[in-house]
Amino acid sequence: MDLITKESGQLGKNASLQACEDSVDALLEFLEQAKANVTDKQYMAQVHTMYTSQVAPQIIQTPNDVHKAISRYGKALDRTFKLNVNSAASSIVQIASDNDDSKEAVESREELNRAVAVHLLRLGEFDTANIFLGESATKLPPLLVEQFELLYDILRSMGERNLQPAIDWASTHQRFLDCRGSDLEFQLRELQFKMLLSQRDTSAALAYARTHFQRYQRHYLKEISQLVTSILYSYTGNSPYEKTGGEVSGDDHAVALKTVQQTLIKEFCTLLGLSSESPLVQAVSSGTVALPILAKMGGIMKTKRTEWTSSNELPVEIDLPPEFQFHSVFVCPVSKEQTTDSNPPLMLPCGHILAHDTLKAMSKDSDRYRFKCHYCPEETTFPHTRRVYF
Ligand SMILES: [Zn+2]
Repeated sequence: MDLITKESGQLGKNASLQACEDSVDALLEFLEQAKANVTDKQYMAQVHTMYTSQVAPQIIQTPNDVHKAISRYGKALDRTFKLNVNSAASSIVQIASDNDDSKEAVESREELNRAVAVHLLRLGEFDTANIFLGESATKLPPLLVEQFELLYDILRSMGERNLQPAIDWASTHQRFLDCRGSDLEFQLRELQFKMLLSQRDTSAALAYARTHFQRYQRHYLKEISQLVTSILYSYTGNSPYEKTGGEVSGDDHAVALKTVQQTLIKEFCTLLGLSSESPLVQAVSSGTVALPILAKMGGIMKTKRTEWTSSNELPVEIDLPPEFQFHSVFVCPVSKEQTTDSNPPLMLPCGHILAHDTLKAMSKDSDRYRFKCHYCPEETTFPHTRRVYF
């Protein structure tokens, strides 16, 4: 039995676990038999001999085999993934200890606590969030908690095939949704219509379409035409609009419901000024991607006894998948430095963009000094530059 080698790993594990299960089954059967004949003294003597000579050694041996294999597996994992997580952290990130009472450390702790609490709210774990808020003495705006409770009430109702609370929410925030070009309200109405139609309640579906689809004619006329025409096919089952209406199964509804729920969560979070994905999950996931590189770098720094002193900057590039990239970066074409909050990109009246520090140097740190743009002949002064947001 060998748990470690790739080829026989799965097989080995199954065989030893199976042997373990079999021996326990055999023991159970043996005990059942013994129980049935417990009054027969002669038989009980036989049972005792059999137990000590055959059954006991077997049930001791098989778990031993499993245990050995598991410990070997752990060692093999350690050998394969030589990752020292501590080396990743110590050389690059200054982690404030719990005893650090500096303003910065206290603020970062509070910020982390808030991130954890909001993450719990996003998961709908309200009890856990409350306990966490109490224990960590963290405060969140009460409105935020209420809003997440409302969101989960709406999602729960949707799960029970009651779309009305979601439709009410979308109607209340119609202006906001329209400004964002969101089709949430139409998605909800469409699903409601399909649900009515799948209950073979054609007159209710038609009435629903008449009452509620008018508002969306401008943008969704094609979809509305297909939905309404699908009523005609609702009894024949061969609707050419199967994807849009007509004959849909419960599973299709479940899929559509999930999509609408995701849209709702996204819009709801945007209205609260939050990202639709939890920043904590994003941070941990991107950190996991970066960890092997950081650990390797930490190792190299330790052996070469070098240190990287630039703050908020890494000496290596870490490629993150596109889903973790949120902002375009801007590198000043003169200083070749990436712009930051403290050294932001500024636009000159001619439209060329340079970094704040570059322009400060070009203007000789004076508001009156006229300087020429690096890329065109136009002259300007520092107060005429404007901050640019990407
Ligand atoms: Zn210019």
